[in-house]
Amino acid sequence: MGIFSGRKTPQFRLEQVMDLEKAYVLQNYGRYPLLLLRGEGAYVWDDRGRQYLDFIAGIGVNGFGHAHPRIVKVIQEQAALMIHCSNLYYNPYQGILAKRLASISGLQRTFFANTGTEAMEGAIKMIRSHGRAISPAKHEIVSLENSFHGRSTGALALTGQPKYRKDFEPLLPGVKYVPKQDIAALEAAVNENTAGIVLEVVQGEGGIYLIDEAFLRKARSLADKFNALLAFDEIQCGVGRVGRYFAYQMYDPAVMPDIMVTAKPIGAGLPLGVICSNEKASVTIGAGMHGTTFGGGPLACRVGIESLDLLEELLPSIREVGSYFKEQLRKLASRHRMVKEVRGTGLMLGMELDRPGKDLVTDAMNEGLLINCTNNTVLRFLPPFVIRKKDVDRAVKVLDKVLKRAA
Ligand code: PLP
Repeated sequence: MGIFSGRKTPQFRLEQVMDLEKAYVLQNYGRYPLLLLRGEGAYVWDDRGRQYLDFIAGIGVNGFGHAHPRIVKVIQEQAALMIHCSNLYYNPYQGILAKRLASISGLQRTFFANTGTEAMEGAIKMIRSHGRAISPAKHEIVSLENSFHGRSTGALALTGQPKYRKDFEPLLPGVKYVPKQDIAALEAAVNENTAGIVLEVVQGEGGIYLIDEAFLRKARSLADKFNALLAFDEIQCGVGRVGRYFAYQMYDPAVMPDIMVTAKPIGAGLPLGVICSNEKASVTIGAGMHGTTFGGGPLACRVGIESLDLLEELLPSIREVGSYFKEQLRKLASRHRMVKEVRGTGLMLGMELDRPGKDLVTDAMNEGLLINCTNNTVLRFLPPFVIRKKDVDRAVKVLDKVLKRAA
């Protein structure tokens, strides 16, 4: 008899789950002692039936909240038809989703992967292939300090935080890290051996830092001058998170990359990562040079199309509720001395403290609010796009309490 037999809702307990994991699951995560069983909109429930307001949303994945009826319907319909068929054959949805992505991103072609990291790896291959076609010496990649691009060895090599890289070196050679917003350092790093420049338009794991327009434009002009590819990692800041389809569209005119990788909300919880590229970058990958077994399956792509339909309706609200949330966080900052700065835009916000934020995250959780802490001192908020001002008020009330208690 399996654990699900005879019961509609499986009964699990945190303690049992923890014991099992301790014995059998790789111990690479430092989890909070919370067992989540169900979600609806911006709310989730644990094994004791306690409700939480989810302002971290699967680290930015659950943009449409939990169990969105339109996402559930599409998954149910498509799962009954076909979940996967491999890239040996056509399925109806890759082309439709790619066309949609081209129209909203301005980048003509899409490759479908499964995760952000996998999309990043593909972008690195495009950059390497572009450089190699010109000269073997043209293999260098310029990246930013404090960046985060994923945990695979290529993406890790580009990640400008030694703490993530140190146990796995030597990694991909030829990567240079430049401090964010330091135009002189960027100019010094890029030369004819540069195959690509890679950056997050808003650094996420690094603590919610917007890269300013002047720096982005300089990266664009240096990439043009030295015939390098400019790649934006929009895995965390893309697909509506900042109130535009993509963060590079915050600036007018948009600072166009050659390659843009994104993931998280586009799959609404299913694994879906994408690389969007212009023709110059797309031609670097010819037949047989790249691929994936799972990527671009009919289920994930059909959900991706539904996600973008939903997002179109939600963009104005992301901007409006996001600026309301930021305003409320700023009011909190004016009353609590431990808050050093409030940063970010849209529904990608951070609150920098003068101390580690981990205990405040636990305290907020005990008060029914899920957030997280990144870069040790930054409380990070990535709520679902479906939140309303009243959800913000509720979250801010908890934060006020938690900050007061920690003072
Ligand atoms: N790049 C950025 C900017 C991210 O925020 C993340 C994940 O948080 C990644 C890459 C890695 O993506 P994934 O965890 O989907 O592989």
